Amino acid sequence: HKSGPILSMNSVEVLYNSVMLAIKGVSIEVPHGGMVALLGSNGAGKSTTLKAISGLLTAERGKVSRGEIRFDGNVIGDSLPQERVELGICHVIEGRRVFEHLTPDENLEAAAPMSLSRGRVASEKARIYDYFPRLGERKTSLAGYLSGGEQQMLAIGRALMTQPRLLMLDEPSLGLAPFLVAEIFEIIKRINRDHGLSVLLVEQNALAALDIVSHGYLIENGRVVMHDTAERLKANSDIQEFYLGGG
Ligand code: ATP
Repeated sequence: HKSGPILSMNSVEVLYNSVMLAIKGVSIEVPHGGMVALLGSNGAGKSTTLKAISGLLTAERGKVSRGEIRFDGNVIGDSLPQERVELGICHVIEGRRVFEHLTPDENLEAAAPMSLSRGRVASEKARIYDYFPRLGERKTSLAGYLSGGEQQMLAIGRALMTQPRLLMLDEPSLGLAPFLVAEIFEIIKRINRDHGLSVLLVEQNALAALDIVSHGYLIENGRVVMHDTAERLKANSDIQEFYLGGG
């Protein structure tokens, strides 16, 4: 399967509470080692798309009612979120959840799979602090006292501890100062380059997102209305008018 995309979604529909059709036949692909953005305004269906992939829909009385999702060529079906994490699918949900009463160090340790040896946990933590030096400087203070940007870095660090092959980030720029958004996005790009980690990024801040991804999908009202390279999306006049103002 290695030649195909790491993720493919084919005509997926999602229903909430058996009645609310939130996405209406979405098809997207993420190549192995690729970086792809899902763009669109509030309520367009971006978060729902990520939840369909990670399996977190079930917790919200949502279900995939049509279409199929493949990871590495295999249909994901009704597998549990935990089973998908074990396959290598990691979803950093909107709002950078961390354990506020634990230190960054403890947060990272708690996210490590049981199968990682103590030595590996230590080396993985070191690797994450290497990418996010700010986090390393604060590793023994409580996560609740970190700034919003540092908490977002920690949320991404926790995701990396799960040894993902596909990292899905929902609005990592939300509420952050522009210089921090640039810093975090640059680090994500570096991790992608260094490790071939595939990334699916949901963003309202289209300008920042299109700077680091190779391709983007524009979702409106539960449908993909545009799909192109980042270059061409940035040059598109509709995109410029509606989305490039920033999130
Ligand atoms: P946002 O950035 O605001 O989250 P989005 O593009 O991610 O926007 P979704 O959150 O996926 O959009 O929402 C898509 C549609 O599904 C919206 O109409 C929303 O109201 C609806 N929806 C989302 N979550 C639920 C839920 N748990 N139950 C019912 N409807 C929902």
